[in-house]
Amino acid sequence: MNDLGDLYQEIILDHYKKPRNAGRLEQPTCSAAGDNPLCGDKISITVKKTGDRIEDIRWNGAGCAISTASASLMSDAVKGKTLREFEGLFDRFHAMVTGTGGSDGLDKLEVFSGVSEFPVRVKCASLAWHTLKAALEGKNDTISTE
Ligand code: ZN
Repeated sequence: MNDLGDLYQEIILDHYKKPRNAGRLEQPTCSAAGDNPLCGDKISITVKKTGDRIEDIRWNGAGCAISTASASLMSDAVKGKTLREFEGLFDRFHAMVTGTGGSDGLDKLEVFSGVSEFPVRVKCASLAWHTLKAALEGKNDTISTE
């Protein structure tokens, strides 16, 4: 984590200590759970989808600072977005953390650009994204990064 840079580390720690959109929606239209056994991160996500828009999202998780901060920042970034916009963000985020793309258009999510140098951390940072994708695709079971 020390190599991620001070500013990035500060934002990640802020979201780790004060996670945004944490909890569970009463009547979600989709949900899924995710598991990253390599690090021990677990997450469950509930979504209220209206038409093709992510109207609301909540998540519950237990895991490392990177996975928790990633879920928190993601929930802020995707709320109100259409499914197509989500897919665009997913692809750009995935490319950034795996080191195949830049951080253009990712705004605050750029704080995770440094994880591309730490392959183990890539799974922590992308767990919430894969889980949300599974939820939106109607796969109501647990996905695993392994
Ligand atoms: Zn982790």
